[in-house]
Amino acid sequence: MKKFSISLSTFCTSVLLFTNIMAQTQYRELPDATRVAPPIEKTVAPGDKYLPNIVILATGGTIAGSAASSTQAGYTSGQVTIDAMIAAVPDAKKLANIKGEQISNVGSQDMSFDIMLKLANRINELTKSNAADGIVITHGTDTMEETAYFLNLVVKTDKPVVLVGSMRPSTALSADGPLNLYDAIAVAADPEAKGHGVMLVMNDQIHSAQSLVKVSTTAVQTFMSPLRGIIGSSAYGHNEFYRIPHKIYGANSEFSVEGVKTLPRVDIVYACVDMPADLIDASVQRGAKGIVIAGVGNGNMTKAALDACQRAVQKGVVVVRSSRVATGDIGRNVEVDDNKIGTIASYELNPQKSRILLSVALLKQRKPEEIQKLFMEY
Ligand code: ASP
Repeated sequence: MKKFSISLSTFCTSVLLFTNIMAQTQYRELPDATRVAPPIEKTVAPGDKYLPNIVILATGGTIAGSAASSTQAGYTSGQVTIDAMIAAVPDAKKLANIKGEQISNVGSQDMSFDIMLKLANRINELTKSNAADGIVITHGTDTMEETAYFLNLVVKTDKPVVLVGSMRPSTALSADGPLNLYDAIAVAADPEAKGHGVMLVMNDQIHSAQSLVKVSTTAVQTFMSPLRGIIGSSAYGHNEFYRIPHKIYGANSEFSVEGVKTLPRVDIVYACVDMPADLIDASVQRGAKGIVIAGVGNGNMTKAALDACQRAVQKGVVVVRSSRVATGDIGRNVEVDDNKIGTIASYELNPQKSRILLSVALLKQRKPEEIQKLFMEY
């Protein structure tokens, strides 16, 4: 009898131990659980110590926008606070310990280098000090590709940094913001997202900052990565990563904005039929250190404009040839003799991203061939 009771208690202890180990294993396996059904809320409670710490840096945009009615097209960006946005996705607390910080509250048409520098420095601080395992940035979609690409160049971490926005304001019928925010938190909280650089999560897709572009003024499916494709998917917090982006970014990037207060002026000049040269000359006169031409086709422009580019280069201004076309490489010496004129080809970068790379590159004295190399590597 005594022998039996010892066996029974040993048996009970073993069952308890086993259950405990299983429960802990489930906690530890939390990240994988985000990729298989059923979702992770089965195993974790808000505030659980195994949950990753995610900081949401809010900047404004339509995701924080509001209108007088749920069906009205007109609205104002950057009205809702980060606390209200977090409150709209209560289930996100099961994915991570979440904190919000309001960096700005503007429509991203008013995004500035000032705010972008503030964001970059805050991300570097939070990730370096281990206050955050991942970062989410809420942002308007209009200039999201510029901020995303800028951060991809200057944040010094392998931890996930995820931008998210929406196309419909928070007050709209079928507002897309809450689910986008939930998915963005799920990606930022996923250890498998590490090392992918700065990402954008919207409408179930994960894009790399390097390849994404905004393609529709109104559609919910507004972001595409036409040249390289998306890098993963996220649906209701279930993430899949397809590949690591191919370019240099994050901890491997040579750029730093530590102590930087402002960026050099770089203008974009848009090419068209019968393009005059005087906007290029005016840009030089107004003190631009760099000019990006949104060229036709493979970065082409009129003869008059090319002559103006050559004049600019001779005055020490760096001129990059990009394209107004939605996709495709802009190669060196294809129809324009870059070697003779001294221009730089932007390769995969559209005009707005070329401007970001050139602004950051011009923080340091660099030879034209060094700048050309940056356009091939980043
Ligand atoms: N104008 C808005 C913005 O960029 C558009 C949006 O967020 O979708 O802030």
